Amino acid sequence: MAYYRATVRRTARVTPGMIRVTLGGDELTDYDAKGLADDYCRVLFPHPGEREPVIPVEVDGAEQVPQGAVAAPVRNYTIRRHDRVDGEVDIDFVVHAGGVGATWAREAVVGDSVALTPAHGTYQPPADAGWEVLVGDATALPAMGRIVEELPAGRRAVVVGIVEGPAEEQLWHSRGDVEVRWLHEASADKLAAALTAAVRDVALPEGTGYVWVAGEAAATRAARKYLRHELGLPGAQYSTLGYWRFDDEAWERRYKEVATQVDERLAAANEQFPDDDDYYDAVDKIYEDHGL
Ligand SMILES: Cc1cc2nc3c(=O)[nH]c(=O)nc-3n(C[C@H](O)[C@H](O)[C@H](O)COP(=O)(O)OP(=O)(O)OC[C@H]3O[C@@H](n4cnc5c(N)ncnc54)[C@H](O)[C@@H]3O)c2cc1C
Repeated sequence: MAYYRATVRRTARVTPGMIRVTLGGDELTDYDAKGLADDYCRVLFPHPGEREPVIPVEVDGAEQVPQGAVAAPVRNYTIRRHDRVDGEVDIDFVVHAGGVGATWAREAVVGDSVALTPAHGTYQPPADAGWEVLVGDATALPAMGRIVEELPAGRRAVVVGIVEGPAEEQLWHSRGDVEVRWLHEASADKLAAALTAAVRDVALPEGTGYVWVAGEAAATRAARKYLRHELGLPGAQYSTLGYWRFDDEAWERRYKEVATQVDERLAAANEQFPDDDDYYDAVDKIYEDHGL
């Protein structure tokens, strides 16, 4: 795995709850990004009190943490903008309470260091799609903004963003024929229900299109079930992406209790279902069976 070192060039508030960190560095002129509008990477952060993240090294063809070091905390973030010429990447951080990533972004100053893995994404509407529907919470806005800004001229898109309140709404420019709707939900524990409802409430236009949903993981799981099993959309016509989990600590505690059974069943499902959609159905069922 390649790792790209980057330092903070500047920071700016996109909205009160979102900070844009512009990262720069020589290594970013060659940054390996797939070029999809929802491209994301893993960001390696420094440990508290340290200036540089711990970057794995390769020993005899295998990647490992340098001797005596502790692996860096890692989180996923969307590449909001990549400029090869200037060697810059923008990442927009939701600054929720707590969290390694959110705290780092809140405190970031020019010169702070992180490392990025190569970026890849999933946003790939079918070639014959006549419309797009994008639904997401605050964590999805960086990808939704980039998708909207990169739409081809005249492309019809309905975009539903769920944010805390009016101050968190964003303005995007597009060549597409875009209708943006904002919904407000200030309680993190009600976000999943709001996102699930928002997906169900959008009337999909006639004909072949593409639905992209990202945000809280319980909601995106429900969205996938709805799109695949209630609406019967083929896998190529939707993407549902769990970006974060409400009360992740409780989920992790439960996972530890059932990890052995879950991991065994996941491995078996991986063997049994070569088709991605069938496999994801099996994964959802396994997690649900174990209260995850
Ligand atoms: C493909 C992909 C792309 C993503 N792109 C972005 C992006 O561009 N910008 C962005 O901000 N996030 C993005 N995320 C989501 C981000 O990775 C998670 O929110 C992550 O948990 C943040 O890490 P943290 O260290 O701040 O919090 P963690 O240490 O992971 O979590 C600490 C606590 O905060 C809670 N929490 C985590 N995220 C949120 C949140 N958003 N709102 C409220 N509570 C939260 C957890 O449940 C936990 O209780 C993306 C995720 C994926 C998978």
